[in-house]
Amino acid sequence: AAKGGGRGQYRFYSSDLKDGAKHRRQIEEDLRDAVENEQFSMHFQPLVCTKTHMVKCCEALMRWDHPDRGMISPGEFVPVAEEIGIIKKMGEWALNEVCRQAKAWPLDLRVAVNVSAVQFAHDDFPQVVRSALSQSGLEPERLELEITESVFLGDTGRAQRIFSELKAIGVKLALDDFGTGYSSLSYLRKAPFDKIKIDQSFVRGATEDGNNNAAIMSAIVSLADALNMETVAEGVETKDELNLVTERGATLVQGYIFSRPMPNDEFLESLEQKKLKYEPRGPAKYRAD
Ligand code: C2E
Ligand code: MG
Ligand code: MG
Ligand code: MG
Repeated sequence: AAKGGGRGQYRFYSSDLKDGAKHRRQIEEDLRDAVENEQFSMHFQPLVCTKTHMVKCCEALMRWDHPDRGMISPGEFVPVAEEIGIIKKMGEWALNEVCRQAKAWPLDLRVAVNVSAVQFAHDDFPQVVRSALSQSGLEPERLELEITESVFLGDTGRAQRIFSELKAIGVKLALDDFGTGYSSLSYLRKAPFDKIKIDQSFVRGATEDGNNNAAIMSAIVSLADALNMETVAEGVETKDELNLVTERGATLVQGYIFSRPMPNDEFLESLEQKKLKYEPRGPAKYRAD
């Protein structure tokens, strides 16, 4: 599903170009160039354990460094890329790039990659994942795929078969932006998700407008617990929000309160300098201390 505005940081296109159609053609044209000229990069944001405040995994987020306009948010260009049919190519690039970078990290950190419903709809998707893993040598359990409910809008049976195939490869699956879609609850029975990411609108709402969103968050958390899934509270910015989501039982938090998404080097540096503390998952050889 396309995201609404509101992430306001990089809305260059909408503000300087008045003519909607012209504006739109300009983004399309620039995007096609961007794919050819490799103007994309991946940034990384940690997911932190609510109990220990240690980093458990991270999410890779795509950035477009536009030659004239600077950094442009994926909220702005991903929906366009989906419509003009270049998201498949971009998504494959992202998967390969992230697997390659993660393999070179001195840590066994798991990394999540966002998958567009359009990319998921292509029949070769599991093969694309297999190939990114084999070319990079990244262990499958270190890769997580973030998928939104919109993948179920097509053929549900097909989606279920793809999920089984992905689980057989050994990657983890997360349901992204939970609560913003259509009939969220039924999807949970249909796919073997390891993690549910509770959309940031619930987090924001929970501290702002009384108890309804907080109650919903508690309900999602207990449901996830019962289904043996982890829960992530997305977009946690303030101490109050952190306290609230911790109290409501979310297993992980992701948000500016701990870190913004960072380029690969900066992200690794924060971990090395222990500004962000990492909790190794695996064998002792990875442990920093
Ligand atoms: P998402 O997957 O739900 O990613 C989380 C978004 O929340 C990211 O926005 C992240 O920067 C932002 N965020 C994290 N912490 C906070 C916080 O404390 N406060 C606020 N206000 N925002 C926070 P970003 O990077 O702009 O990405 C937007 C969306 O674009 C993503 O939402 C995802 O749906 C899509 N996207 C990003 N990278 C990719 C990609 O490589 N492929 C595809 N298909 N989609 C991508
Ligand atoms: Mg995501
Ligand atoms: Mg999300
Ligand atoms: Mg989101």
